[in-house]
Amino acid sequence: MKQSATTIKNSEIETNLISIKMLSRKKERENWEFRTFLKGECTAKRLDSVVHRLYREITAEIDCTACANCCRKITPVLDQEDIEEFAQGLRISPKELIDQYMVKNEKGFSFSQTPCPFLHEKRCTNYGTRPKDCQSFPHLHKDDMIGRLMGVVENYGICPIVFNVYEGLKRELWSRRRLDSVRASTSV
Ligand code: SF4
Ligand code: SF4
Repeated sequence: MKQSATTIKNSEIETNLISIKMLSRKKERENWEFRTFLKGECTAKRLDSVVHRLYREITAEIDCTACANCCRKITPVLDQEDIEEFAQGLRISPKELIDQYMVKNEKGFSFSQTPCPFLHEKRCTNYGTRPKDCQSFPHLHKDDMIGRLMGVVENYGICPIVFNVYEGLKRELWSRRRLDSVRASTSV
């Protein structure tokens, strides 16, 4: 396993959403195999340490206000506190917010449509009181990445930060031989 830390160069960062979506289809098997590798051969502490560093490096190079793809493709989950604050930001009641814009699911309340009804062009129109789930996305600053790798693979084709962090992880933690062998077998 390669252990040395590398610094991401700006030229290595992919932000084109069409390319990222296309690559996520091409690399689907590779991504799941890498997840299996990480779960079996990387300690939780080591993984968190590398992900957190890559996350810091990559977010410094990506402008979320020029992207907003998460607001178009992913529905955040809101708890009661989020609903009250979000409604306050909109100057409507929590009940009006729920009745007009939300559905209940097993995790809590979510917006009933994508793209998010509060997205205007690439801006959140209620940014100051956006839900915790929106503030935290893509959640790569949190601990216990080892238990959240499924979400990482699922968001790889949506979020440029996730895409670049996962590719950075492959470069640092997967041996070149193993990566070449997976790519040869999947013709990527
Ligand atoms: S509430 Fe704002 S930040 Fe959250 S998904 Fe909607 S537009 Fe995006
Ligand atoms: S968090 Fe990811 S998907 Fe959302 S705006 Fe930033 S780069 Fe784009």
